[in-house]
Amino acid sequence: MSNISEKRICQNCKGEFLIEPEDFSFYEKIKVPPPTFCPECRRQRRNAWRNTFSLYSRKCDLCNKSVVSIYSLDSGIIIYCNKCWWSDKWDPKNYGVNYDFSKPFFFTAQRAHE
Ligand SMILES: [Zn+2]
Ligand SMILES: [Zn+2]
Repeated sequence: MSNISEKRICQNCKGEFLIEPEDFSFYEKIKVPPPTFCPECRRQRRNAWRNTFSLYSRKCDLCNKSVVSIYSLDSGIIIYCNKCWWSDKWDPKNYGVNYDFSKPFFFTAQRAHE
């Protein structure tokens, strides 16, 4: 084993990152291949992963149908079932404060599963 840190290209953001020699021995010890993602992308992936473990049973704020959301009721975030989301029964301008409407929660949950 060499004592030189190895330069890798992140598979996700294509940025360069370094794997230190001591990291290699660590990966060897726990029997996992060296990472293909840079530390920043790994951190983001971990966060996405964590979301899949905190799913809340909620009611759609429009039609009251049961839905699963990554936002708890306590979060105060308004959620919609898939059908209502694509309908025009609601107006984004009414709620724009706490919610990022470019990321429907269903898509966030799906992405986290990948
Ligand atoms: Zn990266
Ligand atoms: Zn609904």
